[in-house]
Amino acid sequence: MKMGRFIVDTHVHAQRFAAGKAFKDKKLETDKASYNDLAQAIRGLVAYDNSPRLFYDMECYDVDMCVLLPAFGMSNEMNEDLVDRYPDKFVAVCSAMKTIKEARDGGEPWTPEAAAKEIDELLSTGKFVGIGEGMPADNTRRTTISQTERMDQMRPTMDVARKHKSVVQVHSGVVMGYPLTHHHWPETLHPMWVSDLAVEYPDVPIVINHAGIQGWWSERFYEEALLVAASNDNIYLETGLWWGELYHKALIDPNIGAEKLMWGCDWGASIPFHSQPGNYPSSYAVQIRSKKLVKHQVDVWGWSLKQLLKLECTQDDLNLILGGTAARIYKLTVPHSRLFRPVGKELNPQEDGRIEVAPTCC
Ligand SMILES: [Zn+2]
Repeated sequence: MKMGRFIVDTHVHAQRFAAGKAFKDKKLETDKASYNDLAQAIRGLVAYDNSPRLFYDMECYDVDMCVLLPAFGMSNEMNEDLVDRYPDKFVAVCSAMKTIKEARDGGEPWTPEAAAKEIDELLSTGKFVGIGEGMPADNTRRTTISQTERMDQMRPTMDVARKHKSVVQVHSGVVMGYPLTHHHWPETLHPMWVSDLAVEYPDVPIVINHAGIQGWWSERFYEEALLVAASNDNIYLETGLWWGELYHKALIDPNIGAEKLMWGCDWGASIPFHSQPGNYPSSYAVQIRSKKLVKHQVDVWGWSLKQLLKLECTQDDLNLILGGTAARIYKLTVPHSRLFRPVGKELNPQEDGRIEVAPTCC
């Protein structure tokens, strides 16, 4: 049975890397390479179009649409091309991929203004529905950045989002295979920093990538993500890597609820899962540092949809998590109006403005 009326994964990478040659160039054996080697190599690789596997999984798991994200070494152009060819299947968010590549290749150093300018130009094409994955950052930097400096780096991009009435994504969480530092993306270790952006830009919807759980089983970042979502109207949480039990607290919190949750699984990232039956959680996403790199396409949708079977919420709430919230925030075209329960004071964008009340009996 299909799990929801209209299923959208809001965090999908349709691009993948063939890392063999880069490993060979660096004289690394694939079987001995660490996740850190992979993270370094990825930045210099050219991604290929992995949409045939994505289409296979979309059919397999009845996923109607995906929001495509660029990540390290991926291009906006490939995602744009997929959106052009399959407008009923994909939308895409964009990031300043050229600015960072130029800095990495020894050209113009990265600046927040240059990144914001690149994003401004991309959003001006009308082909992208938001900014992500995460906020643009200088990943050539090798020294600690302060909270004040990092927040100042993010504001030019927030200004661009405001100008285009667009959506931004801020990254959170860790996967454990390689260390995440305070050098360029410190907010990923501090979801509560997003509070300042939420208050300064109340008109800009902000999605917290992974909602604190990208990998590992600590709930510390998840708790911070919940706090920011509960105390700001413009914060939304990607939940695809949450294990089932994590949904309960967000769903019963009167300041969060299904209207602030969106299913986003990091499809394509191939983060492996670890299972530990009889313990809590019984399984979760994590890279295990002593194990070999994962070579197959990890089945994240199968895992995540099974977690949703543990939920005791209404189907209308599940429909919001699986697609309704995404349709509202990313302004997606859905097959019919009134598929999702109305949320808050606003009408859904696909609504026609007429007041229509469902008939009730006695
Ligand atoms: Zn991702």
